[in-house]
Amino acid sequence: MNSGQFWLKSVLMGAVVAGLPLLLVGCGSSNTISDATWPEHPGPKVVVSFAPLYCFATNVAGEDAVVKNVMTSKGPHDFDPTEADVKLVTKADLFFVVGLGLDEQKADKMKKGSGNSKLKVIELGEKLSKDCLEEGRCNHDEHHEGEHDHGIDPHVWLGPDHAIMLVNIIRGELKAADPAHAAGYESRAAAYVTKLNALKTYGLDKLKDKEDRRLVTFHDSLAYFAKGYKIRVKEVLTKTPGQEPDAKEMKKLIDVCTKKDAPVRLIATEPQYSTSTAGEALRKELVAKGVKDAELVEFDTLETVRPEDLKPDWYERKMRENLDKLAEKMK
Ligand SMILES: [Zn+2]
Repeated sequence: MNSGQFWLKSVLMGAVVAGLPLLLVGCGSSNTISDATWPEHPGPKVVVSFAPLYCFATNVAGEDAVVKNVMTSKGPHDFDPTEADVKLVTKADLFFVVGLGLDEQKADKMKKGSGNSKLKVIELGEKLSKDCLEEGRCNHDEHHEGEHDHGIDPHVWLGPDHAIMLVNIIRGELKAADPAHAAGYESRAAAYVTKLNALKTYGLDKLKDKEDRRLVTFHDSLAYFAKGYKIRVKEVLTKTPGQEPDAKEMKKLIDVCTKKDAPVRLIATEPQYSTSTAGEALRKELVAKGVKDAELVEFDTLETVRPEDLKPDWYERKMRENLDKLAEKMK
C-alpha cells in the first residue's frame, strides 16, 4: 500500500468509526435480526426484548403501531445484542423490556449503541406494584449490579394474572405515545385480556383434580406461574440456567424430593437447555430411593422462539402446551 492509499484508508476508517455508534456494542452472538428496517407507517415504532412481550404488545398495537422483537434463539439469560439488533432501535420510539434484573441492561446497551436518545425504555416489571412481585433465587444477569433487588423473580410473563397486568401497562404506554388511537389500543387490549382470562380458566380446569402439585423446576422461573395455578415449587434444579448442579446441590435436591410425607415426583426440563442431564440424573436417583413414579415434564419458559413461529397467538399456544404437559404428568 502506498502512502496515498494508506491516507485514504485511514480517512475511511475514521469516518466509519465516527459515524457508527454501533461499534460501541460488541457482537459475537449468533442471534441476529434479519430485518432491521421499519415499514413506512405513521404510528409508534415499538421494540420488545423477547417473545412473550411481542405477543402482548402486538395484540394491543393492532394496525396502529409496528412491533418488532429482538431475542429469538438466545433468551434474556444468554443474549448479547449484535449490531443488527442495535440498528433496529435507532429509529424506534418505545422499547418494552421486563426489567427486574433480567433484560434492562441489554436494552440500555442497545440504546447507548444506537445513539437514539429519544428511545423510551419501559421496564414493565418495575411498574407492577411491589406486592405483586415474588422472590427468586436465580442469577439472571451476571453483569448486573446493585440497582435492583436481586431477590425478585423476573419471570412475570408466566403468571396468568401478571400477563394481564403487563398487557394493561403496555396499553397505557401505547395510549400515551399515540393518543389519537387511544380507543383502538383500549379495545384491542380488552379483547386480548379476555383471551388471557380464557387461558387461565383453561389451565385451572386442566389441573383442578390434581392432588400432588409438587414440582422441581429447571431454573428458578415459576414463582408467578405457580401462584396462579396453585403449583408448589419445592426446589430448583439449576441455580444459573444451564449450569448443572454440583454434588452438594444434587444431594439437597434428593433430600428435598425424598421426604417421606411429601415426596416430589415431577422434575421440569426446559427445551432451551435440552442438553442438560441434571433432570434425568435426579429422576434416576429418586426412583432408586423409592419415588418410583418420578418423571420429567418439559416446561417452556418462553424465553426463546423460532422466528417463524412468532405470531400474535404464540404466547397462548405455548402456555396451553405447558399446561397440557403438566396436566398429563401430574397426578
Ligand atoms: Zn429465566
